[in-house]
Amino acid sequence: MDETNQPLLQTGASQAALETVLDSLDALVYVADMQTHELLFLNAYGRARWGQVNNRTCWETLQQGQDGPCSFCNNHQLIDDQGQPAAVQVWEFRNTHNQRWYQCRDQAIRWPDGRLVRLEIATDISDIKRLQAQLRSAQHRAEQLAHEDALTGLANRRALFALGQSAIEQARRLGHPIALIGLDADHFKRVNDQHGHAAGDAVLKALAATLRSVTRASDVCARLGGEEFTVLSPGTDLAGATELAERLRQAIADLRVEYQGEQLLITCSFGVTASEQGAASLEQLLNIADIATYRAKHLGRNRVEVEHIIAVKQTE
Ligand code: GH3
Ligand code: MG
Ligand code: MG
Repeated sequence: MDETNQPLLQTGASQAALETVLDSLDALVYVADMQTHELLFLNAYGRARWGQVNNRTCWETLQQGQDGPCSFCNNHQLIDDQGQPAAVQVWEFRNTHNQRWYQCRDQAIRWPDGRLVRLEIATDISDIKRLQAQLRSAQHRAEQLAHEDALTGLANRRALFALGQSAIEQARRLGHPIALIGLDADHFKRVNDQHGHAAGDAVLKALAATLRSVTRASDVCARLGGEEFTVLSPGTDLAGATELAERLRQAIADLRVEYQGEQLLITCSFGVTASEQGAASLEQLLNIADIATYRAKHLGRNRVEVEHIIAVKQTE
């Protein structure tokens, strides 16, 4: 016999030795009759947590709140079409008694008397599950932070590009217009100079809140950097966007930002453009809106300027 096929226990080794092995495992091991669910074996790990067998079934011993075999019992998956033992089933399950998570490895085997029985080996994976949940929420938070402007909570430039590309593709597919409004706070440097950087931050937050409250949920409000913001509005044409920009301008001009007992005032200059069937790229929309914003600054600030897109080569 090949050395690797040598039995681990020499012939005649005692049942006590085998039980010592099974009872030393840091895992639940049990055997139950597949027909009657009678529990035929439960190792020390199982007895310590779920009590003695005492002629009980597996569902009476291992689960709580059951008045019959468990609805989630996977016995039928452990045998093939011919009623013979099939492959090992591995699954995760939260025990109804102690609420801990287990990775269960189940298989049908032949008991010495010939009947089919279910053998389960289950290890406690609650700590892994908890770490996985923590990791998932940390990943979720990291993704949020990567797409969020830290000061205002608006979309950042990266998010604007991600969301903007798909909004433009959709507009192109559906033949819908899409508008972009650029805005830049007027003489913002003065706010910082006169009231301090923290006051400037408070104004930026108030601007962001105003953008959020005046626009629709389907619009993407982003902070591109500094005191420069963008609203991308799918389904909005140039006339609609101009009207929206005017409402934003007015709402911002009406703002009174409370900061350390003072009321800070701010206005913004707006540049509006729109692409009739989503033909323009996001970069083109941003550039054209920039031209309009620059003109609004030049013409005295606190105003809305519009720039048409003359002809845009369809980008694939
Ligand atoms: P204009 O009307 O021509 O746009 O004038 P402006 O003063 O708004 O423009 P400028 O570009 O000269 O100044 C922008 C200022 O915005 C300068 C910069 O310190 C300030 N700034 C940029 N980011 C932040 C920020 O996160 N917080 C604060 N408080 N200030 C910022
Ligand atoms: Mg600026
Ligand atoms: Mg500015």
